[in-house]
Amino acid sequence: MQKNVSISGSNSLSPAPRRPLMLRLSRFSFGVGDRFAHQASSQLRAFEKIRAQGIEVVPVWNKSNREHSFIGSEPSSVRAAAEQAVRESGWSLPWHTDADHIRLETVDRFLGSSDFFTIDVADSIGKQAPSDDVHRFLKHHPELFGTLDIQGIEESIFLSGDALEEIASKYLMAVQEAGRIFRYIEHKLGSGNFIAEVSMDETDLPQTPQELLVILVALADEGVALQTIAPKFTGRFNKGVDYVGDLDRFAKEFHEDLCVLAHGVARYGLPSNLKLSVHSGSDKFSIYPIIRQALAKSGAGLHIKTAGTTWLEELIGLSESGQEGVAFVREIYALALEQIGALTEPYASVIDIRMSELPDATEVASWDGPRWANTLRHIPSHPQYNSNVRQLLHVSFKLAAKKGTRYTDLLKKHSDVIGQNVFDNLYTRHMKPLFLG
Ligand SMILES: [Zn+2]
Repeated sequence: MQKNVSISGSNSLSPAPRRPLMLRLSRFSFGVGDRFAHQASSQLRAFEKIRAQGIEVVPVWNKSNREHSFIGSEPSSVRAAAEQAVRESGWSLPWHTDADHIRLETVDRFLGSSDFFTIDVADSIGKQAPSDDVHRFLKHHPELFGTLDIQGIEESIFLSGDALEEIASKYLMAVQEAGRIFRYIEHKLGSGNFIAEVSMDETDLPQTPQELLVILVALADEGVALQTIAPKFTGRFNKGVDYVGDLDRFAKEFHEDLCVLAHGVARYGLPSNLKLSVHSGSDKFSIYPIIRQALAKSGAGLHIKTAGTTWLEELIGLSESGQEGVAFVREIYALALEQIGALTEPYASVIDIRMSELPDATEVASWDGPRWANTLRHIPSHPQYNSNVRQLLHVSFKLAAKKGTRYTDLLKKHSDVIGQNVFDNLYTRHMKPLFLG
């Protein structure tokens, strides 16, 4: 079956009515992690600085259920730390707290302290949808068959009946799950009173623009008023290190994804501010120019989520704060080497550590503060930078959590040097290249 469908044609279906959003996410938003809830003020300084350059970027403090359970913290602590930083700085733009990667069974504890919900349905991707559901979807959307001209995409998208059926079978269960979670939150918090993101990034294979289109259409059918969507992009988005992959391919895919989102908004009544969310988006220095140019060209928005690397800035700051801090970093690294299997296991698909490149505990015994800082700080061209040590320590935050107040007292004692690192990392290495160039 093949036919040409033009979205601008007078015979196209009229879009579903757009539902009002009381809580609307701004064009640019930036998710910041703060594992130990001590750096919100320093993070906020970066947002103030970029705002002073004329770019409004809204902070979203995110922390997942998994991180809360590793650290033993409650979602209310994220809200409290953010509230305090906002109050002290006089920040007057919106700000949010994100219940990151929640599911139906984990969302409850976040309801009282989050206004942004990242609905994670990656686990349902690939679960075969009942054929009745698939056929109902196909029947309801004849416009998806054949060749689709989507504004901005040079080669038009073509979907054969088989291809469409395959995509629908693969994603409908995930979309239905997103619908269940969305409606549950809506029931608890009220329609339009929260920001919904749908995330599909924690899966094996990237979603093509064709798949993204089908997913958006199905989400619109489900009534999910999502304001951001986090697909899995092509290439590796490892935690805390640069992008690994084909830059030209990423650029093409990112551009096409933006076009597909605009199409979803125009045609299917999805929220008009719908934008892409880039997860594990911190430290992806090589794709920032591509993203910046694509946003400038299209006028699209962006949500970018950092991978909780503020905790690494705390270690860098401690390295620069004298003997006591250096001893602490060394101790954590030695423990991390001992427990490497257990620490890296939950993150196996998002880290690439070469064991042979990890110095052993005796080797690092002689390292001074600057050596630690240079090893950990994400300046890829620095001769002492070691992405393996950085990734290992990135996933080792629970070792510091186990030290309790010994760690948090060090954070308080050395808050100046740590705060400077937190600010500088966020502003200089992230916001500037992403939004200013
Ligand atoms: Zn994610």
